[in-house]
Amino acid sequence: MTVATLDHPSPTPLSRPLDELDRMPAEELLAWASEEFGDRLCLTCSWQKQSSVLVHMIAELARTPAVVELDTHLFFRESYDTRDRLVERYGLELVRPHIPSIAEQHRHEGPNLWERDPDRCCHVRKVEPLISALEPYDAWISGIRRDQSPSRAGITKVQWSERYRLWKLHPLADWDEKRVWGYIVANDIPYNPLHDVGYRSIGCIPCTRPTASGEEERAGRWAGSDKLECGLHLESVDKE
Ligand code: SF4
Repeated sequence: MTVATLDHPSPTPLSRPLDELDRMPAEELLAWASEEFGDRLCLTCSWQKQSSVLVHMIAELARTPAVVELDTHLFFRESYDTRDRLVERYGLELVRPHIPSIAEQHRHEGPNLWERDPDRCCHVRKVEPLISALEPYDAWISGIRRDQSPSRAGITKVQWSERYRLWKLHPLADWDEKRVWGYIVANDIPYNPLHDVGYRSIGCIPCTRPTASGEEERAGRWAGSDKLECGLHLESVDKE
């Protein structure tokens, strides 16, 4: 089997065509990825509902991919509790990249950077740590879905990332919120209880509020600003 590595200037062929991979159900895609990439496959988790689904699915695989936690130190207590319950249930060993403490960030960037320049804050607390965390891997599984926002509408289940120099896998690309919840309930998977009190999308405390009825799923993220994404899933590289 030939796979892309960080040293390769461009992706090398996969064992299956991309259009075939795009038609695969989530579980089948994950089983293929586990065979294709072996130990060079990872899943990132932020302890929202998609994390619950994917952690459950990868636990069924013969070779469990590494689970990377991007802990910004600004998660809700409920998110940390959810992490702990998933770790206990599935016996996860988390990979935790270094992320500067809040005090360090205040020292270097000034206080409350998230209020003054949230793009820069996300870059320091999420994008840079992710770039370093992904170094050992050839493929990265993420829980993003096409229906979450216009910027995610065009994602495919397997796509090459020039920015990160690896394959990005989106097994839940064609799922909607209802299907996510159906899977969690049917399999009795621990999930973030903030979802029960109006938080349909959950990130850092300063940048997350519950959504009102009729609002879009991610309307509670960076509300009141035109920011829509933390930058992890964008291909452009800025704020460096
Ligand atoms: S979501 Fe907010 S607090 Fe978290 S890294 Fe981004 S700007 Fe900073």
